[in-house]
Amino acid sequence: LFVAFEGGDGAGKSTQSGLLGAWLEAQGYAVRRTREPGGTGLGRQIRDLLLHGEDGSVSPRAEALLFAADRAHHVASLVRPALERGEVVLTDRYLDSSVAYQGAARQLGHDEVRQLSLWAVEALVPHLTVLLDVPAGVGRERRGDVHDRLEREADAFHDRVRAGFLDLAGRDPGRYLVLDATLPAEQLAWAVRERLLPLLEGLLAA
Ligand code: C5P
Repeated sequence: LFVAFEGGDGAGKSTQSGLLGAWLEAQGYAVRRTREPGGTGLGRQIRDLLLHGEDGSVSPRAEALLFAADRAHHVASLVRPALERGEVVLTDRYLDSSVAYQGAARQLGHDEVRQLSLWAVEALVPHLTVLLDVPAGVGRERRGDVHDRLEREADAFHDRVRAGFLDLAGRDPGRYLVLDATLPAEQLAWAVRERLLPLLEGLLAA
């Protein structure tokens, strides 16, 4: 079972994937928590290039390809093998982040970036994507002091990211759980578990 947590910077993705991971482990499931960019050794090097490049030194297309390269390696070396072992894989960010950030916010185009991302992962799509929807201003306050190139983007950029995510969720509502990320973390965690229960029952029946 493959679950992705998506949303803008400061949405609380890692908090929610941590809460869900701990709950699943308490139920006896083998869980693999991971993240993009940087879920693998190669990925951490790519993450470093992406986050600590000088302002403007990474062109939008190069950025899209670096995220896709990170994801391709992440899926081939970590996500697919874990799924094949029957583990539940929880990832902070997946291909929707590329569509929202590079496709919508950097305006490379929804379809182009989605196709690139699907090619990179040989069409592996999560069973459930939890979208933690956060207004740009709230995300900025939660992040506090920012130190990397990408987090320094203006609110207008993060507004386009948010709209990009909501557009994706609207196109495929069956695969998304959209939550208001300003709600208390425990309340959000309950909503995620509730939505996951039928998928877990399906896993046991399989
Ligand atoms: O979520 P995390 O903090 O690990 O992401 C690192 C940075 O990469 C964030 O600033 C995020 O805005 C950015 N990012 C991006 N495009 C993606 C994924 C993440 O610009 N496809």
